[in-house]
Amino acid sequence: MSIAEKLHSIKNTLPGNVVLVAVSKTKPTEDLLVAYEAGQRVFGENKIQEMTQKWEVLPKDIQWHMIGHVQRNKVKYMAEYVDLIHGVDSLKLLKEINKQALKHNRTISCLLQMHIAEEDTKFGLDQDELIALVNDDEFKSLQNIKIEGLMGMATFTKDLEQVRREFKGLKTTFEGLKEQLPEIHVLSMGMSGDYTIAVDEGSTMVRIGSSIFGARNYN
Ligand SMILES: *Cc1c(COP(=O)(O)O)cnc(C)c1O
Repeated sequence: MSIAEKLHSIKNTLPGNVVLVAVSKTKPTEDLLVAYEAGQRVFGENKIQEMTQKWEVLPKDIQWHMIGHVQRNKVKYMAEYVDLIHGVDSLKLLKEINKQALKHNRTISCLLQMHIAEEDTKFGLDQDELIALVNDDEFKSLQNIKIEGLMGMATFTKDLEQVRREFKGLKTTFEGLKEQLPEIHVLSMGMSGDYTIAVDEGSTMVRIGSSIFGARNYN
């Protein structure tokens, strides 16, 4: 199947309220253009430099999502144009995003990343850290960021019941957080291997790369 065919077949399986982020990391701009011409407007990248190079040359109505871990000293390179930052997991990072957003006289939308997988990664907040963050007075004072919702990555495992439990847990956290932040509306969960489970469990945004663009070419 071509990129356009794969894109359309995935779109056809998604409920209308679920946003598809086409994850184009490592892929050449020609591949992104093929998806663009097939109607795709939301692209996800995990390296700020690579995303910025693509933003510079590709059509300006593309919405760029930063889905990877964000280094604070690089926020400035995407502050002018980024549409949504998925991987926010500290007040320090939020303060930097707020500062850079202010410089560009804009508000930058963010998702808080939760650590839901069994894997021992350093990224993502746990429940206590989430509560501490949203109750912090400094957090509440930030005027140029907008928290749109939560993001999480399930464990990379063949045990699909475990994946389902992790997504269910994130959905519960999301509903709980809504009581405090009633405006949140984005739950970013699901990738090529697990997005159907994620959608079942209430995802509103899936991040799909290899099922659209094929295996990644890391060199
Ligand atoms: C690479 C990546 C994806 C897409 O992964 P696929 O398995 O290729 O669909 C989704 N989310 C994040 C955070 C990623 O880094």
